[in-house]
Amino acid sequence: MRIEQEMIRVQNLKKSFGSQEVLKDVNLTVKKGEVAVLIGASGSGKSTLIRCINFLEIKDGGEVFIEGKSIDPKKDDLTQVRQKVGMVFQHFNLFPHKTVLENIMEAPLVVRKPNKEELKREAIELLKKVGLEEKADVYPASLSGGQKQRVAIARSLAMKPEIMLFDEPTSALDPELVGEVLETMKQLAKEGMTMIIVTHEMGFAKDVADYVAFMNQGRIIELAPPHEIFNNPKEERTREFLNRVL
Ligand code: ADP
Ligand code: MG
Repeated sequence: MRIEQEMIRVQNLKKSFGSQEVLKDVNLTVKKGEVAVLIGASGSGKSTLIRCINFLEIKDGGEVFIEGKSIDPKKDDLTQVRQKVGMVFQHFNLFPHKTVLENIMEAPLVVRKPNKEELKREAIELLKKVGLEEKADVYPASLSGGQKQRVAIARSLAMKPEIMLFDEPTSALDPELVGEVLETMKQLAKEGMTMIIVTHEMGFAKDVADYVAFMNQGRIIELAPPHEIFNNPKEERTREFLNRVL
């Protein structure tokens, strides 16, 4: 049976920076286990949209529902929301003076306050999951970019999020390191993680996305399963964008 629980709903979302309207009326729903890929030109609002979903940016209008609950950034505990909604950025921002294992344990130690031994076991499991078990005790400086990003993914998973947001997780990587990070994300998708992924990796989107949302100047102007978006886009602007990037 297909689970239809709604994990994220963005409704009439608006966000401006100064006089610039960056999100103009965005609607998006992601159900449990679905993978939504966001594509669009630079400056179209992709990062702002996902940052509004975990309240790194605060919306000016509209609603953000997490697991069916409308979140009010003035009243609700945003730390709790961000625990549910993990995020991985283009730049990994690992703590340089902490080992890989310590990086993964840091946030749950502070926020979840569990038993330290148990937490360590969990962290090692997560390292296995991202294929870096043997790197537990090294410092980030000795890792490749792809390995750092996989540690960043493990670190985010350590908070046991229900939803994962990715903002161009492979854009800063040398081309030969992109595949290993995409593979890790693909594995997460297979395990049923609910995800919103901003990426320019169209092959990955074709393989993994349940649907692809094309953003243009602050709006999602086309949303469809990948085979439709890539083979038969309805909007001229989607077609133009894809012609440029494919
Ligand atoms: P994308 O991720 O699609 O490239 P962004 O969401 O980063 O787009 O940016 C959309 C627009 O909002 C851009 O014009 C960008 O310059 C502007 N913008 C983003 N963040 C800020 C900010 N913190 N302050 C001012 N302008 C911003
Ligand atoms: Mg961006």
